[in-house]
Amino acid sequence: MLEITQLVAGYGNIKALKTVDISVPEGAIVSLIGANGAGKTTTMKSIMGLVQPGAGQITFQGQNITGLAVHKVVNLGISLVPEGRSILSQMTVLENLEMGAYQRKDNSIQSDLEKVFKRFPILEERKTQLGGTLSGGQQQMLAIGRALMARPKLLLLDEPSMGLAPLVVADIFKVIQEINAEGTTILLVEQNVRQAIKIAHYAYVMETGRIVLHGKSEDIANDPRVMEAYLGGR
Ligand code: ATP
Repeated sequence: MLEITQLVAGYGNIKALKTVDISVPEGAIVSLIGANGAGKTTTMKSIMGLVQPGAGQITFQGQNITGLAVHKVVNLGISLVPEGRSILSQMTVLENLEMGAYQRKDNSIQSDLEKVFKRFPILEERKTQLGGTLSGGQQQMLAIGRALMARPKLLLLDEPSMGLAPLVVADIFKVIQEINAEGTTILLVEQNVRQAIKIAHYAYVMETGRIVLHGKSEDIANDPRVMEAYLGGR
């Protein structure tokens, strides 16, 4: 569904991505893991059109989307839940969710809103509260709900479990699996390596701007290098 080929990207003189190849099959959960600064967020931003690649190609459902404007990428069916959530704290929960659908012109926005409320009942209960008054876990649910309001075929999640308590983290991973089971393909960036590999079909390991290892998630989980570097030796 998404093919990233020989992608190079950076910020001025900083080459954040040296050559990145990732393939996300339709219907899968693909996890991208790696240390801080490896280039995971830059990969997500390149897909969304938030960072202009220097070389390489990104195709989505066979269409070249390399360097395409963000709103066009969203319209094709890709949404990003950014690192740090980017909730609009001075807007209500409902307004935050409506922001996710601002580009849509169809008549199903209301029914999608109802679906988000069904998935996250706490957001319905708090729909008139300001985004900034929610707990960290609720804000993450709001960020996911907002991304779903764009009706993505491919959902990009950048460190959704960051800063959350273990029980809330478990909820978030469960929600990701449910969204996937209902037909949305997922590319997940996570520091929580064990759980990210566990729920994924495929995993990629990134180090300093390159993919150093990839494969089926069970093979990656059993790879001695991954065990040593990311799973505490087990
Ligand atoms: P993290 O888990 O810390 O978010 P990451 O794997 O997502 O790490 P990136 O955020 O993609 O890594 O960063 C890759 C490299 O690009 C790092 O060396 C980082 O310092 C650099 N970088 C990221 N954003 C910028 C920016 N806006 N301007 C300059 N350099 C940047």
